[in-house]
Amino acid sequence: MKKPKEPIYEHTQIKKMLHYVNVWFLPFRWGVNTYRGCEHNCVYCNARYTHEYLGLPTGEFSHKIVVKDNASELLDKEFSKEKWNKKLTVNLATVTDPYQPAEKRFEITRGVLEIFLKYHNALMITTKSDLVLRDLDLLTEIARTGFLNVVITLPTLNEDLRVKIEPMVPPVEKRLEAIQKLHEAGITVGVTAIPLLPYISDSEKDVEELVKTVAGQGADYVIVDVLNFRGEARNRFMEFLNSYDLDLIPKYENLYETNYCDKNYVKTVRRYANKIIKQYKADNYDKMYSYRKKEKK
Ligand code: SF4
Repeated sequence: MKKPKEPIYEHTQIKKMLHYVNVWFLPFRWGVNTYRGCEHNCVYCNARYTHEYLGLPTGEFSHKIVVKDNASELLDKEFSKEKWNKKLTVNLATVTDPYQPAEKRFEITRGVLEIFLKYHNALMITTKSDLVLRDLDLLTEIARTGFLNVVITLPTLNEDLRVKIEPMVPPVEKRLEAIQKLHEAGITVGVTAIPLLPYISDSEKDVEELVKTVAGQGADYVIVDVLNFRGEARNRFMEFLNSYDLDLIPKYENLYETNYCDKNYVKTVRRYANKIIKQYKADNYDKMYSYRKKEKK
């Protein structure tokens, strides 16, 4: 495996924090990102295309990291507008990880949490890092005085595979510990087992082990989905497959005539995954949607 390049941090003052997210099935309509680019460098990452918006090559997504220095100041201004009295749910983050290694140094995400707490606005956080536990003091208060749902992404329990597909992400054990501690702090915690990798990490046995384990740690719900591609993600993933298992290449070519996995294959995985999720009572999706339902009234 290639050694990851040293990150280059580029500090910037941005003009806008909140952006509208027009995806009907998501439990939020607004998003914020505290960084651009992501050091986690997952082989299946579908967010690399966002570097093009900055005029940067997608190949620099995992080592040229844009740090939004004025994120909390700007969010404070945006939340002070009348429209935000409605306290609409906001997702942090949509195209980066708010707790990637840069956050240890710059604490941009922590600054943004302070603004959520100031306005008691509803928040969803999506991360793969146990660094989220550093902010447990703020998170507990946000959950107590408003709405908070932390979503930990964990697509496999296999640590050997994790090293190959998510080289800079904290180990499986750390993420399991994060789920448990968030749950013990009274925070709603979901797990996204996304992406499940066909013929690698999506067998019924894999899914059952994963769901059983995270449910045991206190996860309120689990969402699964099979790998799909956006932009150049497909080429990058195929490069990984080339070094992982050459025999899988023709199988993937069959499954992926487009950037989306074969529908029947996905149906089969979803069918057994949903059964398993119910069996282990990891289907408390109301906790995720409850606030959004209230927003509509
Ligand atoms: S954590 Fe998310 S945004 Fe970051 S590299 Fe991995 S998939 Fe991409």
